[in-house]
Amino acid sequence: MGDSSAPAPGPDAGSAAGSAGDLTGKRAVVTGAGSGIGAAVARRLAATGATVVAVDHAAAEVRAVAAEIGGHPLVMDLSDPETAAAAGEGADIVVNNAGMQHVAPVHRFPPDVFSRLLTVMVESPFRIIRAALPTMYARSWGRIVNVSSVHGLRASPLKSAYVTAKHGLEGLSKTVALEAAGYGVTSNCICPGYVRTPLVEQQVADHATLHRVPREQVIEDVLLARTAVKRLVEPDEVAELAAWLCGPASSSVTGASFPMDGGWGAH
Ligand code: NAD
Repeated sequence: MGDSSAPAPGPDAGSAAGSAGDLTGKRAVVTGAGSGIGAAVARRLAATGATVVAVDHAAAEVRAVAAEIGGHPLVMDLSDPETAAAAGEGADIVVNNAGMQHVAPVHRFPPDVFSRLLTVMVESPFRIIRAALPTMYARSWGRIVNVSSVHGLRASPLKSAYVTAKHGLEGLSKTVALEAAGYGVTSNCICPGYVRTPLVEQQVADHATLHRVPREQVIEDVLLARTAVKRLVEPDEVAELAAWLCGPASSSVTGASFPMDGGWGAH
């Protein structure tokens, strides 16, 4: 079981490092690390000993996260794929997480916003992975974790760019998994439902204002209506799954997508 190049669990496996094992010496590039899920993943991987490169265009936020975990901030706008490619160079672990949302019907969806979402959430991940793979192949080890969404697996109205981008990311992840398996490199997607992050808090606030209802009612009646586990997912839960996907127990897991949606997709 397992690839021989996977790091053996360190002395602290089961405590701080846990399911990620000991990732000391590994360079982990985490995009969108200035907030929400990305910040949680950056903290979690740093706790395993990985050297985290925290990438975000929100300069103050990503510098604060990097300082907190002893990582390196990389202030970068991922809407420029040429620039994005540089983030992947030399990485042992890539977590493609940066993303955003725009809600509008297709016939009124701004084309420039559609294009921007696809660039940040598909093309730049492609460029980062493309730049990272040669080093991973040379070292016979690599971990790629793509933070997709339940919308990588299912559609919802009004989210055409987001659903299209996440479906594209799923395809990219599976293709990389097939090409890279022989080099000890895995590629997987995590597909969260609603996670308690600024991205969702903003959607809740907008909906509450628009429909003049309390915030709690929006969460209960709109976000969690189809969800069996009646609470938002916490960023740390997503980070724990990402850490496991980087750890020694998951080296046979590749080309997979893991819903973490409280049962949303079970309907
Ligand atoms: P968030 O808004 O808290 O964080 C996203 C981060 O990405 C921010 O720090 C932002 O500055 C960064 N970012 C956005 N555009 C960028 C760009 N052009 N260049 C560099 N950085 C950029 O959001 P989150 O909820 O933590 O989302 C993280 C990922 O998880 C996204 O891909 C999102 O689609 C996915 N996701 C979130 C949820 C949820 O409910 N929050 C559910 C499923 C999937």
